[in-house]
Amino acid sequence: MNNLMGVLPDGTFSLCGVAFSRADMAWGKYPDISVKEAWENSPIYSKIKSSIPNNIEGICKKCIHKNSCKGSCIVNNQETGGSITSPNFLCELANKAGLFPETRVINK
Ligand code: SF4
Repeated sequence: MNNLMGVLPDGTFSLCGVAFSRADMAWGKYPDISVKEAWENSPIYSKIKSSIPNNIEGICKKCIHKNSCKGSCIVNNQETGGSITSPNFLCELANKAGLFPETRVINK
């Protein structure tokens, strides 16, 4: 997601189609701001780029797939955990139930 940016039909920049229903996940609109500005200067997008995957929490923080999977969908993680850095709820539940594979956990 650190290299993903969506544009809705009305020119609104967003991570994906989430901004259809979540205005807080939109970061400006073309042509009010350019694609370059949306990519480089959006506070929301800057937070995403600086937080994911480095500050991701829970089982995702310890997962060997952290740098490729990045917690899967951060919008879903925000909805279920309260923050874009919250872990993926399914993997977190699996970990709490003792079902997350130990071979996928970084033991440091
Ligand atoms: S714990 Fe699950 S969601 Fe999180 S990085 Fe690993 S595979 Fe992805």
